[in-house]
Amino acid sequence: MDERSDLRAAVRTIPDYPRPGILFRDITTLLGDARAFRRAVDELVQPWPGSKIDKVAGIEARGFILGGAVAHQLASGFVPIRKKGKLPHETVTIAYSLEYGIDEMEMHRDAIAPGERVILVDDLIATGGTATAAVELLRKMGAEVVAAVFVIDLPDLGGARRLRDMGVTVRTLMS
Ligand code: AMP
Repeated sequence: MDERSDLRAAVRTIPDYPRPGILFRDITTLLGDARAFRRAVDELVQPWPGSKIDKVAGIEARGFILGGAVAHQLASGFVPIRKKGKLPHETVTIAYSLEYGIDEMEMHRDAIAPGERVILVDDLIATGGTATAAVELLRKMGAEVVAAVFVIDLPDLGGARRLRDMGVTVRTLMS
């Protein structure tokens, strides 16, 4: 088994969750497998060992788990991007569309200094609505978004393409 198929096998698929017709890609099985978790983090950081990354920004909630490990590996700081109302200090907010309606995410206003080099992390990119909003939020704070990294890409939904169209380098470990 090569490394990619190993990682792929570590992701569990739950049909019809959270709604009928959705194939939910559950990474908790990958996180619980010591070798797979380590390999996933190693592969996510692999292109940036020598370049200084100031901050890793993780999207709530699974992006926190991966992003914390990625930040440690890159010797970077970690910045949480959270659902509205969860952060205690002054925040900047961005609204983004979901399949049904609008949601908002935010980060602390002082979490990133202008010009800081940032990598964005989440478990999965689907339509890209979440990640493109996170990139906009980071850029609004003056961040240089060096890359966005995900364990899983759902290419039919076009999210990775939308991010690349915004000039963001995208790295994913499986489709
Ligand atoms: P999107 O904004 O459409 O790119 O959706 C990405 C966000 O929704 C990520 O935070 C994912 O964790 C979650 N997500 C979307 N689709 C799935 C799926 N099929 N399986 C697991 N998580 C998903």
